[in-house]
Amino acid sequence: MQAPGNPDETIFDKILAGQIPAAIVHEDDHVLAFKDIQPQAKVHVLVIPKLRATSLHDLKDRPVAQIGAFMAGVARVAEKLGLAQGGYRVVLNTGPDAGQTVFYVHAHILGGEPLGRFGA
Ligand code: AMP
Repeated sequence: MQAPGNPDETIFDKILAGQIPAAIVHEDDHVLAFKDIQPQAKVHVLVIPKLRATSLHDLKDRPVAQIGAFMAGVARVAEKLGLAQGGYRVVLNTGPDAGQTVFYVHAHILGGEPLGRFGA
C-alpha cells in the first residue's frame, strides 16, 4: 500500500528531494535554482532556499543569516546566468492576492532581455 503523502508538501519540496525532475541551473548549501516551466522572459529561473517556508512572509521570524543566505543565493544565481551586467528582476509572489500558486517560498529571476517598466 502506498504511504499517504504529506498534504503540505509542494512540487518544490519534491524537486528539492529529487523526487521529480527539474532543469537545475545551480545548487549549493543554501539554495536550489531551476528553470520555470512556463517562462515569462528569455531567462526565467526560480530560486528556493533549502529551508522550508511557505512564503516570504513566513521568513519574517527566521534567523537573519538564513534569509540573507537566500537573498545572496538569488544574486549568485543571477550572476551565474550572466545577468549581472544587464540586470534582472526578482519577484517574490507572497500569498493568494499576489498570485502565489506554489506555497514554498521562491524567488523568480527574470531577465536576459529588456523587461519594460514594472507593472506597465
Ligand atoms: P508563483 O505563481 O509565484 O507561485 O510561481 C510558481 C511558478 O512555478 C510558476 O511560474 C510556474 O510556472 C512554476 N512551476 C510550477 N511547477 C513547476 C515545475 N515542476 N518546474 C518548474 N517550474 C514550475
